[in-house]
Amino acid sequence: MEKLGRNDKCWCGSGKKYKSCHMAIDDKIHYYELQGHIVPDRDMLKTPEQIEGIRVSSKINVAVLDAVEKMIGPGVSTEEIDKLVYDMTTEMGGIPAPLNYDGFPKSVCTSINEVVCHGIPSSDVILKDGDIVNVDVSTIYNGYFSDSSRMFCIGKVDAEKEKLVRVARECIDLGLEQVKPWNFLGDMAQAINDHAKANGYSVVVDIGGHGVGLEFHEEPFVSYVTKKGTEMLMVPSMVFTIEPMINAGTCEIEIDEADGWTVYTADRKPSAQWEVTVVVIDDGYEILTW
Ligand SMILES: [Zn+2]
Repeated sequence: MEKLGRNDKCWCGSGKKYKSCHMAIDDKIHYYELQGHIVPDRDMLKTPEQIEGIRVSSKINVAVLDAVEKMIGPGVSTEEIDKLVYDMTTEMGGIPAPLNYDGFPKSVCTSINEVVCHGIPSSDVILKDGDIVNVDVSTIYNGYFSDSSRMFCIGKVDAEKEKLVRVARECIDLGLEQVKPWNFLGDMAQAINDHAKANGYSVVVDIGGHGVGLEFHEEPFVSYVTKKGTEMLMVPSMVFTIEPMINAGTCEIEIDEADGWTVYTADRKPSAQWEVTVVVIDDGYEILTW
């Protein structure tokens, strides 16, 4: 890393002198690095301009999810959800990030009951009374990416599924409590995993969250099964998703061989997931996508 003098302009592009911008943060990061911790690269720390871009993109993402919330219900096909997401995102000047991502054929992921994630919308899939469904929306606007998802209970859902959806939501809140500068991603993971386990559930290991903002999926990979005090140090201006997949049974998953996308629980018990994009700020976190 280039060695900056106190009075040089900061590397982040703020135009401020290094000593009044990132110098103290860099020194602190270095201190943790010397102790053997994983620390973020400079390119994981977003500039105020980038954060504002992600914030604007997130507003579209949230507006689309709000619209889904109004139209979803028994008898609605997941294709209709896909159409709403595509139409509304493009009308607002955005691009649905999933569309054509690695060949994904649709604009949104719709994952019902035992589908953990990456369910593909289809006119053949009609939501019915008692289903729980995750709708995962991701938006590109002006080059900035945002990403969030919600669970929806369709009609009258049994108590078991209702609890799974509620606990998955609580996991987000407990994880958020751990998001602050100089904590570790593992602090958040353990809070989430402990709550899931206390309710008899498991957390998916093989798929996690991610940095987001300038790309759909950026470093770091964010696990929700690691231990307190481990994984990457949280530093102001890091942007990442919190999106643990909570399974009623085993944490083992299987990918559909025919479509190459749909992820199921191995035991076909239900799974639930909520997702937010957060930015680490000086006194904790800001949720960009609620
Ligand atoms: Zn700076």
